[in-house]
Amino acid sequence: MLQDSFGRVATDLRVSLTDRCNLRCSYCMPPEGLDWLPKAGLLTADEIVRLVTIGVERLGITEVRYTGGEPLLRRELLDIVTRTAALDPTPQVSLTTNGIGLARLAAPLAAAGLHRVNVSLDTLDRETFKRLAHRDRLADVLDGLAAAEAAGLRPVKVNAVLMRGVNDHEAVPLLRHCLERGYELRFIEQMPLDAQHGWRRDDMITADEILALLKESFDLAPDSPVERGSAPAELFVVDGGPARVGVIGSVTRPFCGACDRVRLTADGQIRNCLFATEESDLRAAMRSGAGDDELAERWTAAVRGKRAGHGIDDPAFLQPSRPMSAIGG
Ligand code: SAM
Repeated sequence: MLQDSFGRVATDLRVSLTDRCNLRCSYCMPPEGLDWLPKAGLLTADEIVRLVTIGVERLGITEVRYTGGEPLLRRELLDIVTRTAALDPTPQVSLTTNGIGLARLAAPLAAAGLHRVNVSLDTLDRETFKRLAHRDRLADVLDGLAAAEAAGLRPVKVNAVLMRGVNDHEAVPLLRHCLERGYELRFIEQMPLDAQHGWRRDDMITADEILALLKESFDLAPDSPVERGSAPAELFVVDGGPARVGVIGSVTRPFCGACDRVRLTADGQIRNCLFATEESDLRAAMRSGAGDDELAERWTAAVRGKRAGHGIDDPAFLQPSRPMSAIGG
């Protein structure tokens, strides 16, 4: 088991398949992009599957989420998903994506064994999308979402980040759009993980504000904590149900005490937290000949040192040197 010194057990593995992305969402990276990881530094598909297999078969991982960067850009994605879904015991296999390319890939991914997707959608307005993501791709995202639903990758979850003066007027339209299509919407508080270090606490749209915006148009009742479990989203039943909306208050309502996540970066580093300042290098160990026992031991030791909380609200908080796109969101 991957247990830390506070008794939390990591069962949910987030694996970044690439740090590259075809969008430039301003809360994540600058318009000109970043210095991408060199190709030789990325884990190969075989290396990824080897580590995921150790996680699932030896260390109690029950859910594997592929992310990035943009995971649909990884050419071996179908192969990686197929091999993950074939593990015994079978983990829950999901994908966090911006949806571009999903119109083509949703059905093959479902056939490969993918269970569900989270698609990021911050706006329904083409001009706002262009301003926020610096690319004119809203139609592709909406097509991707529809294809995911049609392929049965359910529940299709939608992630939205609201930014003041950019898309904070869209909380209600976004929820309506999702309710009408049976998607589960989650608003995520903007976190200090952008490569430009432009995040300002005072500028962030808080969970309280998001709920106030939604309550102007919907009746929201807190869902039972049992339903929430270790999931980061606080869930609310909308207009008597059964639909729900989630708010992920990573900054103002941290859920570190219930965290069950561990991350593997595209270059093979184990991270205990999005905000960790330390990593454990499984790629170097693997490439210098470590066997599965040793890799499992290193991974277990890395998780043991997980801190109690991310400390974003602490005055001494330091933003991690890697941006979200390089960690895997
Ligand atoms: N490219 C994929 C996507 O767009 O979903 C996967 C990677 S992306 C980093 C994963 C999620 O992180 C997205 O929902 C995105 O909106 C969110 N995200 C990125 N930067 C963020 C930030 N600074 N604060 C909060 N969420 C962020």
